[in-house]
Amino acid sequence: MAYDFDLFVIGAGSGGVRAARFAAGFGAKVAVAESRYLGGTCVNVGCVPKKLLVYGAHVADELEQAAGFGWTLEEGHFDWGTLIANKNREIERLNGIYRNLLVNSGVTLLQGHARLTGANEVDVDGQRYTAEHILIATGGWPQVPDIPGKELAITSNEAFYLKELPRRVLVVGGGYIAVEFAGIFQGLGAATTLLYRGDLFLRGFDGSVRTHLKEELEKRGLDLQFNADIQRIDKLDDGSLKATLKDGRELVADCVFYATGRRPMLDNLGLENTGVELDARGIRVDDQYQTTAPSILAIGDVIGRVQLTPVALAEGMAVARRLFKPEQYRPVDYQNIPTAVFSQPPIGTVGLTEEQALEAGHKVQIFESRFRAMKLTLTDIQEKTLMKLVVDAETDKVLGCHMVGPDAGEIVQGLGIALKAGATKQQFDETIGVHPTAAEEFVTMRTVTR
Ligand code: FAD
Ligand code: NDP
Repeated sequence: MAYDFDLFVIGAGSGGVRAARFAAGFGAKVAVAESRYLGGTCVNVGCVPKKLLVYGAHVADELEQAAGFGWTLEEGHFDWGTLIANKNREIERLNGIYRNLLVNSGVTLLQGHARLTGANEVDVDGQRYTAEHILIATGGWPQVPDIPGKELAITSNEAFYLKELPRRVLVVGGGYIAVEFAGIFQGLGAATTLLYRGDLFLRGFDGSVRTHLKEELEKRGLDLQFNADIQRIDKLDDGSLKATLKDGRELVADCVFYATGRRPMLDNLGLENTGVELDARGIRVDDQYQTTAPSILAIGDVIGRVQLTPVALAEGMAVARRLFKPEQYRPVDYQNIPTAVFSQPPIGTVGLTEEQALEAGHKVQIFESRFRAMKLTLTDIQEKTLMKLVVDAETDKVLGCHMVGPDAGEIVQGLGIALKAGATKQQFDETIGVHPTAAEEFVTMRTVTR
């Protein structure tokens, strides 16, 4: 049967664009449907605008440090409207770049909502298209628990477009987004409280990292409340919001921001017209991203494995190669994925946490260092940087590298290569440091902490 396209991609986000562009480059006839914004979550309401706001908040640190270096500054004034307008302009520029990337690769771009009408057929706003392969790359969407007043709360989607910086913010959640946005709001001047339902936020991260970040955020004046969860939200007469906690306490704020995870985006996708099945995380796929309907594949946040842009990109690449350049196909390596949390200070991490290493049966040696960064020595700021190596005591292999401190994300990228190459602690020790940097501490830690 002749199809309209070799590959029809639903969703022009990180994974979809990568798969579409490379498939077209390999000679396939490709279409992409996008209902909302080119570049998807990462470009529009995720990594990119988030990082721009983090940079904005970080300026406050630089201003605070300036006096120690001899600078006298007039009293600073921050304007949220300017930051958001500049951010929006940059996002529009990126939208244009994504459009050009697709069009210049020969991909047919369809603007509209795509709905599966069969295993080889997609409807985009009333127009039907057939394809030999269909790739679902529809991403995710914020999930807010069903409590009375939930409609009064915002999520990351809305936070990027707030008209004003709220004066008082309650951030709910203890994952990446909660911690990052708590830092943004607080850094820009809002009185910020972070509420997390468990004992300590960032479940799954290394224990030393979680404790260290907690201490540093508290030093910065962030109000951290653990074992705390909201039962209901009510609007008060003056327009502010009252959050009643499960323990009966009442907190008043101008904005309640929920970052309690993301669900796969399956709305009106027409999966019922296909044999595509779900699992607990999202769309069920095999190790080559094939769903339970053989002509349909799925990648990225919608399969709910690792919700990171570089992972969606790698999965998109793998699909394009598997379908149209099988001789170049390589499976995605999910081991040792480096990642950063852009909190203030940020976290960088790759490999096993101490807890995971022990659970996996390794005999571990821990090297841990806490120090005040050189840049702060001329200031009154007492922030400490944490660096930690988790080493297999029997093989000497470095199993995990963890950091909390300035530039952690930048530093951990290189360590990711070392771990992928299987580096040993001895090889770390034999690597010459770059002096004077914070990063050199990773190659100079000699004393076993535990
Ligand atoms: P998406 O990028 O979400 O793209 C899906 C696209 O599909 C969207 O454009 C959507 O409009 C479209 N779509 C959905 N349904 C349909 C339909 N039926 N028809 C047509 N189009 C449809 N990751 C990092 O690595 N680093 C970070 O710093 C980082 N920061 C983040 C900050 C925030 C606030 C958020 C929310 C996420 C962040 N992420 C970050 C995660 C990252 O954004 C995602 O992992 C990544 O975007 C997933 O890519 P994707 O291709 O699976 O989906
Ligand atoms: P996460 O899954 O990281 O965190 C969700 C948080 O919300 C957890 O602390 C969880 O608690 C808590 N939670 C879940 N359900 C409830 C509930 N019903 N009531 C109260 N608390 C609840 O999700 P995020 O929304 O922070 O981010 C989604 C994903 O996006 C991340 O996992 C990450 O993969 C990606 N991302 C990556 C970034 C980066 O690379 N820098 C930045 C932002 C997002 P518990 O731990 O107890 O389950």
